Amino acid sequence: MNAEKLAGLLFPQVAETVDDLEKQYPTRTLPEGAKVTRMGPSPTGFMHLGNLYGAIADERLAHQSGGVFFLRIEDTDQKREVEGGVKTILSAFREYGLPFDEGATEEGESGVYGPYYQRRREEIYHICAKQLVLQGKAYPCFLTEEELAGIREEQAAKKLDFGCYGEFARYRDCAYEELEKRVADGEPWVLRYRSEGNAQNHIKTTDLIRGTLELPENIQDVVLLKKDGIPTYHFAHVVDDHLMRTTHVVRGEEWLATLPIHLQLFSAMGWKQPKYLHTAHLMKQDGAGKRKLSKRKDPELSLSFYHEKGYSPAAVKEYLMTLLNSNFEEWRTANPDASMDDFPFSIKKMSVSGALFDIQKLDDTSRNVVGRMSAEEVYVQLTDWAGEYDPDFAALLRRDKDYTLAALTVGRNGPKRRKDITAWSDAKEYLRFYFDELFQPDYTLPERVTPAKAKEILEGYEFLPGEDASLWFERVKALAESVGYASNMKEFKQNPGAYEGNVGDVSMVLRLAITGRQQSPDLQEVMQILGKNRIEQRLSLMLKTL
Ligand code: GLU
Repeated sequence: MNAEKLAGLLFPQVAETVDDLEKQYPTRTLPEGAKVTRMGPSPTGFMHLGNLYGAIADERLAHQSGGVFFLRIEDTDQKREVEGGVKTILSAFREYGLPFDEGATEEGESGVYGPYYQRRREEIYHICAKQLVLQGKAYPCFLTEEELAGIREEQAAKKLDFGCYGEFARYRDCAYEELEKRVADGEPWVLRYRSEGNAQNHIKTTDLIRGTLELPENIQDVVLLKKDGIPTYHFAHVVDDHLMRTTHVVRGEEWLATLPIHLQLFSAMGWKQPKYLHTAHLMKQDGAGKRKLSKRKDPELSLSFYHEKGYSPAAVKEYLMTLLNSNFEEWRTANPDASMDDFPFSIKKMSVSGALFDIQKLDDTSRNVVGRMSAEEVYVQLTDWAGEYDPDFAALLRRDKDYTLAALTVGRNGPKRRKDITAWSDAKEYLRFYFDELFQPDYTLPERVTPAKAKEILEGYEFLPGEDASLWFERVKALAESVGYASNMKEFKQNPGAYEGNVGDVSMVLRLAITGRQQSPDLQEVMQILGKNRIEQRLSLMLKTL
């Protein structure tokens, strides 16, 4: 076989060599130990938790080491691409505060290791492919879909491994003349790798999460370039991660099976392989067993789920970090107010087994994260969310910013913070009573209070602006006594028969009138925010129902 002639036949327009590429994309000058990581999402319009999970690891590994984190758009599969897919990717990463140092941007690209869209790298793949052909390591294959289906049937019947290998790789050792004729006749071809692997052999390699791996050698003559000259994932991964000088490839464990192909290709190209981290799948409890989160069954797999419900990105990230690094929760307990970026992220603490995704735990984490936020932060994120999903509510929140901020400050000062909000879509329910437009009281009275008694209590109460909390409580106690209720809880408990009710019932009636429900943040604080007029209106509103 005349490799040179074949290379010229297949890639007549390719003049550059891999050496030229090496010069154009030299090894990066970075401090010792700096890691270069990348995200390679496909613009399918669907961003899922797994993307974010990997991206957090990528971003931390790069930025913690003074390295580079870049974005490459893997758009080789045009069938799966949707309009605006890149925008979805970029806005998700922006929302989650995962800043790329280089790569695809909305305007184009930034960085000198591009192009960062795979479809714009065709020439680069062809230069590398040509070298493989020149070295006799790749060849054109003309098998049609029907022929491939026939091979598959035969393999199924004979209980053999599927694929193009050995005797099934019909064009592997085909004479140059036949190949030339087929090309000249315009027959479509794919470029296949000529695998030198042997099924009996095992290769040893290291995964930084999983340790030493022993995998069967690849025997398949895998496709490197498809009929349209676009590379497969395997070839693009090897070419791109070499020329973009990626040091650490973090990707899902679904790629473990094809790792032998990638290692084989790195070695065929004469390149050093990057370090690999194959992350565990995100799993979900399903009855007694566990299963992978599924796009079809689990809406919570999609990042749009969190956006629509109004989960703070910080909360989702924080929860994923608890799955990524087993010691994160312990660190968070010791450093409640530190930025997540201060956490020393470590590969050693990454788990090999499936990470169990539990939305209830995410909700707990989220309540803590929102609880730790300042009222101003909550205001900004909440009004942004409401602006998109509930504009009327957003208008109310924005009408008097100081008022809304005061409402959001309640329960946010002391060491024990309230945790009422999981996601911004809960906030309306929580804040409802601050706004007359949203006030929907449920005046169900507590057990020990008759309507007549409630009336007496409401008529006997007077709001005093600026009143101190302890003075307020003294007055509520006095009010309790004046309606024949116990003002002292201990006494009430010792002698329940002696009283119709107690001071707690009195404040409950006031709470019902003012907030329209039996549970609310500190009533005295709430009242100071609502102000005299509103309180008087609310008291008389409830009185009318009695
Ligand atoms: N485009 C690939 C995917 O979305 C990227 C995998 C990788 O990070 O190498 O699965």
